[in-house]
Amino acid sequence: MRIAVLSGKGGTGKTLVAVNLACVADYAQYIDCDAEEPNGHLFFKPQNTEEKIINRLIPVIDETKCDLCRKCVDFCRFNALALIGNKIKVFDKICHSCGGCKIVCPQNAITEKEKRIGKVISGTSENVRVETGIMEVGESSAVPVISALLADKIDVETVIIDCPPGSACSVMESIKDADYCVLVAEPTLFGVHNLNMVYELVKAFKKPHGVILNKCVEGIDIAENYCKEKQLKVISRIKFDKELGKLNSDGEIVSRVNAGYKAMFADTLKSIKEEVSHETASDS
Ligand code: SF4
Ligand code: SF4
Repeated sequence: MRIAVLSGKGGTGKTLVAVNLACVADYAQYIDCDAEEPNGHLFFKPQNTEEKIINRLIPVIDETKCDLCRKCVDFCRFNALALIGNKIKVFDKICHSCGGCKIVCPQNAITEKEKRIGKVISGTSENVRVETGIMEVGESSAVPVISALLADKIDVETVIIDCPPGSACSVMESIKDADYCVLVAEPTLFGVHNLNMVYELVKAFKKPHGVILNKCVEGIDIAENYCKEKQLKVISRIKFDKELGKLNSDGEIVSRVNAGYKAMFADTLKSIKEEVSHETASDS
């Protein structure tokens, strides 16, 4: 079961939720897709780590064969090729490595070379296999790194996907194979605005979803009212708690050091799994 954890912005508690849901499973794979700024590993401190480099193919123009016909330029929908002076220039940062320009070139003037775009670091932390995607500095899109990260499937019952914040294409790539999406939100006006962004996204992708409200304070129920209005299921409410905040900012995994939080996240994971079973049963 693949459970994606999203939030409309950073700092809502998305990684707190993702890390702790992985920890309370019997055995889990935790995948950090926030490849621009991954931080789940700071909590897990994984052991026996291995590194895998992620490359992708970029076109290379052989100027001795190219007759400047422009067919490749006209073909590229990403504007990653341009005829400048008497040369075809490749803008590798916006190339999507589709390989189409190579196919349409009538002079066979295009070959491809590998370009390093990031890496995946894998390791183990007690009952959790931790996979972290990291983009190369200067790369413009996390999508190829996330795609490589999610392709590496291992045989575990619970997979927790810690998505990038927001609702851009990197989040779409992260949730595309998810069985369930958990939307983490804060009970503020800004929090509701961000919740609405990720709600619209999972609705568009037709993904089963529920909400975890974090930093809940007595008497402030703007996010709760939003969920009622949209008929969104609230799976769990995490109270604003200084002890939790301190443990989290010290890099501790709260469910590993506090029995109350362990029970709370275990109940939350159970509720999510029941939701997924319910959705699966109603689909069949
Ligand atoms: S590989 Fe695809 S995206 Fe890249 S330059 Fe060629 S046509 Fe454009
Ligand atoms: S399609 Fe081939 S020959 Fe034509 S401009 Fe591009 S690289 Fe040159």
